[in-house]
Amino acid sequence: MEKYIDIIIESFIGYWDYLVYEISNPSWTNYFYWLIGLSLMVFTLEIIIPWRKKQPIFRKGFWLDAFYILFNFFLFSLVGYNALSNVGVALFDDFLSSFGINNIVAIEVQSLPEWSQLLIMFLIADFVQWNVHRLLHRVSWLWKFHKVHHSVKEMGFAAQFRFHFLETIVYKTIQYIPLAMIGFGIQEFFIVHMFAVFVGHLNHANLGWSYGYLGYIFNNPRMHIWHHAKEFPKQFKYGMNFGLTLSIWDYLFGTAHVPKSGRNLEIGFQGDESFPKTFWQQLIYPFQKESK
Ligand SMILES: [Zn+2]
Ligand SMILES: [Zn+2]
Repeated sequence: MEKYIDIIIESFIGYWDYLVYEISNPSWTNYFYWLIGLSLMVFTLEIIIPWRKKQPIFRKGFWLDAFYILFNFFLFSLVGYNALSNVGVALFDDFLSSFGINNIVAIEVQSLPEWSQLLIMFLIADFVQWNVHRLLHRVSWLWKFHKVHHSVKEMGFAAQFRFHFLETIVYKTIQYIPLAMIGFGIQEFFIVHMFAVFVGHLNHANLGWSYGYLGYIFNNPRMHIWHHAKEFPKQFKYGMNFGLTLSIWDYLFGTAHVPKSGRNLEIGFQGDESFPKTFWQQLIYPFQKESK
């Protein structure tokens, strides 16, 4: 037990040092500067060539989402999650070794060239995420958490990071096992992570892009806005367009739906008028009894 507590404490103490280090040490693999750079780039595009021209630059929820970026990207994903996942991995390994299993690697990919390892990891992670996202919509207690993301009423790049921190835990936990089985650890590959952040920013941006034929491979703003539709068509009771970075899973498994331009589509969910509007209220919302 002590071992696990130590892991948590060490990870949190390391946070401040980590953030200071990131800010004072620009490099090509620096999360802080890449996140700022990509955000400014997509924000600039929204200002120059907005899809909804009447939408204010500082749209509804802009500052809330800016705070979510800080919280979910740094505080939670890179630090809190690290602490939890270190504990999780230690628990998982201890659990396995109590059965005499020391290694769950089923297929060794480490001998492949690095680019193909990255590609394999990216494809597996994205497919797992597509499935997890479907679960978030289907399972009612998970939907309570995921509603935070769907409470966005005007889309803009920063909306990508409006989600409850518990989602990170659900996503990464489910992702861990298949990735560990092919020999990947918990470390994020920088380039894969930043690429996903970039595509995710674009998916939520006020941009009328669909990338032509590439839109059948990559998720895009014209497709993802339908995922946020307030009303779902009858055949998609639990929603559609669940892809994170890739759209192929939705096209392959019949959950893709882009009937017409969604430029002025009403987004949100039934009853979103009474959904809490502040960060802390949204954080505790799913844990409250009366919430539906
Ligand atoms: Zn969703
Ligand atoms: Zn979204």
